[in-house]
Amino acid sequence: MKAVFIKKHGGPEVIHYGDLPKPEIEENDVLINIKYAALNHLDIWVRMGIPGIKVKFPHILGSDGAGIVEECGNKTTSFKKGDKVLIDPGISCGICTMCRKGEHSQCKTFHLVGEHIDGTYAEFVKVPEENVHPIPDGLTMIEAAAFPLTFLTAWRMLISKAKIKAGETFLIIGIGGGVATACLQLAASMKLKTIVTSSDDNKIKKAREIGAFEGINYKKEDVYKKVKAITGGEGVDIVFDSVGAETWETSLKCLKRGGRLITCGATSGGIAQTDIQRVFWNQISIFGSTMGSRGEMNELLNFMKVAGTRPVIDECFPLKDYKKAQKYMESKKQFGKILIEI
Ligand SMILES: [Zn+2]
Repeated sequence: MKAVFIKKHGGPEVIHYGDLPKPEIEENDVLINIKYAALNHLDIWVRMGIPGIKVKFPHILGSDGAGIVEECGNKTTSFKKGDKVLIDPGISCGICTMCRKGEHSQCKTFHLVGEHIDGTYAEFVKVPEENVHPIPDGLTMIEAAAFPLTFLTAWRMLISKAKIKAGETFLIIGIGGGVATACLQLAASMKLKTIVTSSDDNKIKKAREIGAFEGINYKKEDVYKKVKAITGGEGVDIVFDSVGAETWETSLKCLKRGGRLITCGATSGGIAQTDIQRVFWNQISIFGSTMGSRGEMNELLNFMKVAGTRPVIDECFPLKDYKKAQKYMESKKQFGKILIEI
């Protein structure tokens, strides 16, 4: 089968497009004929090598995907050949205390499709049955491939952790990436007043089109002063910051008393200064979060059906041009998801 894979860690030059054997399924697996897959920044971390994570080479990249069931393991019960399905990329043991509490993304063995195990940039991928979901009515195959990782991450942060409410004010640091865009779309559906930041006026314009109330170009304006001005001097209820070191202090300053900060990444670095007095005096909560649980995935799928929320798709490349797609993602020019057609 055709696939995009790496034979060692390194720069873009280690990415190959070629033939690999079709995977053989175990009794609890489903084999899926992938039609679309979606890029995530995780692809780049896996390509370069994540400390502590060993992958078996050749390793197929890709965490998000949707397609058609090709074959079902003997012990599976929910699917049959021909079903249209999408993949929940989070793999957990299912039997530890955290898994039994329904906190799958806190399982000690938690990992993602395409990270420790072969991913979705291939004609076929095998995943455990519990990671397979029917594509909800109304969602196209390409949309089904585009949303799971980023929307599930956004859902857990906003709904389960920050417990957002209609009418609250919400600041998104750096709009354009998959999780930030998912946060904006969920917040817009839930009637929050969302402010986004970017260095690109065009991205701010696009953000307004999908529900942002206000945009701040941080190259031209001071984010803290502008947030204060927009909120009548109060600050916002919630900040989403996955930029990290470069923006952390400003993000904390932009919160009103009792505000909540949510984070699922630190692309500019993980070490930053925190004014602890501000945290306790203003009674600020900081929520770290990663991916989501099986239950949260079900909640999200239901929400998308009811609310009609659809992921923003920026561009779609053929599988053989994956290297170009990854380069495009690294250029940070995209707004929404970059897809691969297989
Ligand atoms: Zn577990």
